[in-house]
Amino acid sequence: MPLMSSDTVKARLRNWLRSEQAMGLHSVPISHAGAVVPPAAAVESTLQAPPPAAGLFGQESDAPDPLAELFAAPPLSTAEKQAALDEMNAREVSVCKKCRLCEARTHTVFGEGSADAQIVFIGEGPGETEDQTGRPFVGRAGQLLDKMIAGMGLQRPQVFICNIVKCRPPGNRVPAPEEVISCTPYLVRQISIIRPKVIVTLGLPAAKYMLSSSTTMGRLRGQWQNWRGIKLMPTYHPAFLLRSYTEQNRAAVWSDLKQVMAEVGLKQEK
Ligand code: URA
Ligand code: SF4
Repeated sequence: MPLMSSDTVKARLRNWLRSEQAMGLHSVPISHAGAVVPPAAAVESTLQAPPPAAGLFGQESDAPDPLAELFAAPPLSTAEKQAALDEMNAREVSVCKKCRLCEARTHTVFGEGSADAQIVFIGEGPGETEDQTGRPFVGRAGQLLDKMIAGMGLQRPQVFICNIVKCRPPGNRVPAPEEVISCTPYLVRQISIIRPKVIVTLGLPAAKYMLSSSTTMGRLRGQWQNWRGIKLMPTYHPAFLLRSYTEQNRAAVWSDLKQVMAEVGLKQEK
C-alpha cells in the first residue's frame, strides 16, 4: 500500500475516533509504541471502492406484484405524507387485530420521525419500553441507535424509525412468520409514502424480511442491496452490539453507516 500523507492519517484517525464516540466508547486503546491504533477494519472501510448499485437479492419474480402500484403512484408532498401516515396509524394500526400479537400488547408502535425522511431505519419489533410508551427504539437499544444517528450528524426527528411488526412479541421473541406476513403490509405502505433514499435494516429479522434472504447477518451487512428501487443497507441491530460490544462489531456498524452517509450526501469528517 502506498504511504499515506500525515493529513490522511490524521483524517482517518479523527474519523475512527468519531465512530468510537458514536458507538459509546469513551476510552481509546493505545499501542505499546504509544500511538493510537485504529482497527484495521475501520481503516480498510475508508479505502473501499463504492458499492454496486444493485444487490444480491432483488425482489425478482414473474408473479404479478400487488404492491407495484403503491410505488408507481407519484410521490406526495410533505404534508400529504404526514397526513397519510397519521391516518394509517389512527384508523388501522392502532386498532389492529390482524395477528395474535394484539393480545398481549399495551400499545401498538407505529414508528416515528420525519414523513419526508431520507433514511428509514427498520428494526425487529417493539420491546418492553416501546410497548409501554408506544414509541420505537426508546429502551437501551434505542439509546444506542440515537448515538448512531447522532454520529451520522443527524437528529432523531430527521429520520424515520419503525419495525417489521408493530406489536411486541411476548418476551421479545423473534416475530413468527405469520405475524410478519400480517403486519408488513403496513411497513411497505409506510415506505411507499415516505419514499426514502436509503433504508437501513437493523438485525437479521428485518434484513431477512426485506430481502427474502436466508443468508447470515455477517454476510449481508455492509453490502448495498436494492429494495423496490430504494438502496438498502443491512447492518447489525443495536441490541446485538450491546450484547457483543466488540471493537470489530462497532467498526463494522460505523463503516455501514458511513456508506449510508455518503449515499445521502452527509458530510464526513475530512
Ligand atoms: N428493538 C427493536 O427491534 N425495535 C424497537 O423498537 C426496540 C428494540
Ligand atoms: Fe396488527 Fe401488526 Fe399488531 Fe399483528 S403485530 S396485531 S398485524 S399491528
